[in-house]
Amino acid sequence: MSGNFPKDKDLFVFKDEGKMILITDTGSPGSSDTQDDDDRVWRILITDDEEEVHQATLYALRDTKILTRNLEFYHAYNSAQALDILRTVPDIAVILLDVVMETSNAGLDLVPVIREQLKMNDLRIILRTGEPNQAPEIDVIRDYDINDYKLKSDLTKKKLYASLTSAVRSYKQLRTIEDSKKGLNMILQASSELLTQEGLNNFAQGVIIHIAALLGVAPEGVICVRRRDQHVEEDLMIIAAAGDYCSLIDRPLSEMSESITSRLLRESLDNRCNVFHKTGVALYLGSHTRGDMSCYVASGTPISDVDKGLLEIFCNNIALCADNISFLESLKDYAFTDTLVGLPNRNALEEVINRYIDQKSDVPYSLALIDIDNFAEINAALGQEYGDQLLKTAADRLKARFYEPNTVARVGGDTFAVFGPTSHVQKKALLQPFVNPFQIGGELQLLSITAGIVPLTEIQGRGSEAIKDASIVLKQAKNQSRGQVVMFHHKMVDDARSRLQMLRNLRSAFELNQLFLVFQPKLKLSDLSVTGFEALIRWKDSSGRFVSPGEFIPLAEQSGLIIRMGEWILRNAIAELALLRAKGYMNTSMAVNLSVAQLEHPDVLEMLMRVIGENNIDPSFIELEITESIAMGDIEANLRRLEKIREIGFKLSMDDFGTGFSSFTYLQKMPINCLKIDRSFVNRSNTKSGREIVEMIVQLGKTLGLNVIAEGVEEEVQGVLLKEMGCHEVQGFFYAKPMEREQLHQWLAARKARG
Ligand code: C2E
Ligand code: CA
Ligand code: CA
Repeated sequence: MSGNFPKDKDLFVFKDEGKMILITDTGSPGSSDTQDDDDRVWRILITDDEEEVHQATLYALRDTKILTRNLEFYHAYNSAQALDILRTVPDIAVILLDVVMETSNAGLDLVPVIREQLKMNDLRIILRTGEPNQAPEIDVIRDYDINDYKLKSDLTKKKLYASLTSAVRSYKQLRTIEDSKKGLNMILQASSELLTQEGLNNFAQGVIIHIAALLGVAPEGVICVRRRDQHVEEDLMIIAAAGDYCSLIDRPLSEMSESITSRLLRESLDNRCNVFHKTGVALYLGSHTRGDMSCYVASGTPISDVDKGLLEIFCNNIALCADNISFLESLKDYAFTDTLVGLPNRNALEEVINRYIDQKSDVPYSLALIDIDNFAEINAALGQEYGDQLLKTAADRLKARFYEPNTVARVGGDTFAVFGPTSHVQKKALLQPFVNPFQIGGELQLLSITAGIVPLTEIQGRGSEAIKDASIVLKQAKNQSRGQVVMFHHKMVDDARSRLQMLRNLRSAFELNQLFLVFQPKLKLSDLSVTGFEALIRWKDSSGRFVSPGEFIPLAEQSGLIIRMGEWILRNAIAELALLRAKGYMNTSMAVNLSVAQLEHPDVLEMLMRVIGENNIDPSFIELEITESIAMGDIEANLRRLEKIREIGFKLSMDDFGTGFSSFTYLQKMPINCLKIDRSFVNRSNTKSGREIVEMIVQLGKTLGLNVIAEGVEEEVQGVLLKEMGCHEVQGFFYAKPMEREQLHQWLAARKARG
C-alpha cells in the first residue's frame, strides 16, 4: 500500500489550538477556516409505491442543500426494496416512508424491522400517508422513534425542506453521540489492553491496531520515534509497523521511499501535532520517557470530525493512560456533551433522570422540553451558522436561568430540556430566557418557543421514557398551542387517542357508506319561494349518537379524508339535485360546502369537472360555499383557483361572512356571487347594535352587487327585519330544518299542495 497515494496538492495540519494551516506542495502556507463538506452528502431514501411521489419529492428538493451538504436520493417502491437498500447502502440519514404500499400497513410494518432487526436507531423516519387515519398509534411513534409524520399533500418544497432539515439535524446529532460512544468504548478497551502489552514495540503495534479499529479500517501503518541525545544523522526510527509497512520495522524512516506517509510523519514530529490528510493520519504521541513518537495510519478516506475528536483524545492521553483517572473523565465528557452548545446531551440527561429516579427523592421533579418555533425556517432563511449561533445563545440563557440543582440539556436539533424541582420548572421561568430578542451578527431576532412540562410522577419507566413522553406533550403543544408552555395531563394522551379513534370510526363509516346528507331549504324573502337547498352531512355513529359535523369535519380536514369525502358529498348532492329537477323542481339550486383543504388540493378542478360530468348537470345550479379562511392560505393562488371554478360555471358563496378576516379590498377581488351572513349576527339582530351590523353587511353585499342571504333564522321577527333591510334570501330553522331526502320531498309536495 505504501507509495500508492494519489497525488495530492494539499495537506491539512492541525495545530494545537485547532486552527488549520493549509500547506500546499509548493510549501507556501495559506489559511483556511472552513470545513469542506462539499463532497459529502446526506443520503435520503424515498420509499413509496407511487412514482409521482418520487418525482414530486425530487422536484421539490432539487438543488437543495441541508446543513451544507447535498442530498443523495435512493428510491424504493416497496418494503423489500427499501430493506435491500438499507442493508446495502451505509449511512442513510432519513427514510421518507409511505404507510400504504403493497399492503395498507406495509410502511408501518417496516418500522419495527428497521429498529429491531436491522438495529438502525439513528436513521430518521418520516412517515407519509395520503390520510392520517392511516397514522400510526402514538405508541408506535413513541416506541419506534418516528421523527415526523406528514401528509402527502405536504409535498411542498417549504414543508419538505423544514421536516428534512430537522430530521437530518437530529440524525447528525445521534450519529455523533453513537460514534463517540462506540469510540469511547474502543478507547477504553484499547487503553486497558495496551497496558498489558510488554515492551515498547508491542505497545506501539497495539496502538496502530487500535487506531485502525477506531477508524474502522484495516491496520496499515507505522510508528516512528525521534531518538534524543544521539548525535546520529538519522534520528527517526520506525519502531512498529503493520500491513504493508512490516518490512520497515526497526529501520530508519529515511529508508522509506519519499511518500505522503513519510512526509506526514516528519510533519507531525517536527510540529508536535496531529496531521490529517485525505488518505491517512499522523498522530503525535508525545512521551517524555520514550521520546517523541508519531503514529501513521492509512485511513483511505477523509476522517470525520467525530473521529478526529476521538483520535485527539486518544493521542493526548495515550502516554498517560496508565493511571490517569481524568483521562477517563474527559472521554466521558466527550460522549455526554453536546459539542455545539456545550450542554449535556440526551445521554447525559437520561442518566441524570435515572439517578433522580434511583434516589427516590421526596422533592418532586419535572422535565420540560423546549422547542424553538420555526427554527427550521430561520435556519433555512438565515443560514446554518446563524442557526448555530442562535442555539448557543439560547443554551447560554437557559443555563443562566436554570442553575443547580437544575439540569439544562440539548436533546434534539432545536430542542432543549430542563430537568429540576417542579417548583423551578415553571411556565414563567421557561419563557423568561426568550423574552428579550437575540442579537446575532448585529441582527435582533425575537424567538418564540413551545414547551411541554411533564411531572416525573406521571411517567412510568426510566429517563428515556420520560424524554419520550415529554416529546409527545411537546408535539401536541406544537400542533395545538404553538408559542405556549403546556402542562402534561392525562387528558392530552386520552384526547389524542379518542380523536384518533373517532377518525378511525369516521373513516370506516365513510367506507361503509354510513354517512348521509340532509338538505336545508333556502327561501326568497320577497315571496318565500324556495330558491335552493344546502347539503349538510350527517353521521350517526355505531352507538346511534349523531356526531356533529362541527366535530368531525375538522378531523376530516386535518386528516385529508375530506378530499375523498368532499367528492362523495358533492356527487350525492348533485344526484339529489338531478332527482329534484326530474321531479319538476327546475329552478332550484344546490349549495355544497367546500373546505379550504379541498380548494387547495391540486386536483380540485379535475374533481369538479369529473363530478358534474357524471351527472351531466349545469354547474350554474351548484353553489359552492367557501369561508373566509381561504384568505389565510396562499391568497393569490386561491383566488386564481376560484376564478377557474367560476369559469367552469359554478356559483360561489361566501359562507359565515363576518367571522373571518377578509378585508373589503380582498372581498372585492373575490369572484363570488353571494354573501351569507353568519348566524351569530342574525342571532344578535334583536339588539340595536346587532341590527346595525347585519344592516351593514347587507349594504356591503348589495354594494358589491352580490346576492345576500341570512342563515340561522330562528324567529319570525328576524325574517321581518331582514326583509326590511333588503336582504334577499333566508335559511333557518324557522322556515325549515335540514331534512333527509324523503322528508324533503314530502315537505316540498306539501307546500306545492298548499299552493
Ligand atoms: P354551515 O355551513 O354554516 O352550515 C349551517 C349550519 O347551521 C348547519 O349545521 C345547520 O344545521 C345549522 N343551522 C341551520 N339553520 C339553523 C338555525 O336556524 N339555527 C341554528 N342554531 N343552526 C342552524 P351543521 O349541519 O351541524 O353543520 C355545521 C358545520 O359543519 C357547517 O356549518 C359546515 O361548516 C360543516 N359542514 C356540514 N356539512 C358539511 C359538508 O357536507 N361539507 C363540509 N365541508 N362541511 C360541512
Ligand atoms: Ca354552509
Ligand atoms: Ca354557515
